[in-house]
Order: sequence, then C-alpha cells, then structure tokens
Amino acid sequence: MSTKKKCPYCGQPIRRRQIAEYILHGTAHTIKCDGCGRMLRPSRYPFSFGVCYAVAVFYTIGAMNLMLYVLHFSFLKALLCFLASFAVILALLCLATIATTEFDGNELIP
Ligand SMILES: [Zn+2]
Repeated sequence: MSTKKKCPYCGQPIRRRQIAEYILHGTAHTIKCDGCGRMLRPSRYPFSFGVCYAVAVFYTIGAMNLMLYVLHFSFLKALLCFLASFAVILALLCLATIATTEFDGNELIP
C-alpha cells in the first residue's frame, strides 16, 4: 500500500534509513518526520520479540543438530555454515521489517 510509509500527519514519505532504526531499537524508538517534525512510532512491530526469539532458538538447535549428526560436519564447519545461514535469515528479517513497518498515527507523540 502506498500509505504504509508516509507520515500520518503530513503525508511526507518516511525514508527507509529511518525505518531501519527500528531494527535495532524496537517500537519504543521514535523517528522525526522530515516534513512536519513530529515524532513517529510504528503502529505495530512486524515481528514480535517472542516469535523471533523462538525461531532463533529452534533454528539454532535444528540446524546444528542436522549438520553435526545427520550431515556429519566437523564442529567448526557446522558452526560456520550455521553462522552464514543465520546471517542470511537475519538479513531477510531486517528487509521484511523495513518493508512491513506501518505508521497509522495512533501512537504519535506530540
Ligand atoms: Zn509529517
């Protein structure tokens, strides 16, 4: 939708770099609209912390067990493969967070 990444007050587009700040800071973080100067927060966080934590734990256990006990990788090789695949998943989650963050004006700070 075209309304997802616009300021709910003035309609000014919100830059991706500003939205990317939520990846590190979460929804408690506010960004300043370039158009009207108001502080904005997303209406909801695309992925909850609990879901991301559970996915990370299960992926870590599952991937390491698969590589160590099914594929018979050495520990170092399994760890490197796990870290590489985890980095790809993390990058995809970051891109999805940027793509799905919405601002609806309900959580605005004056
Ligand atoms: Zn604005």
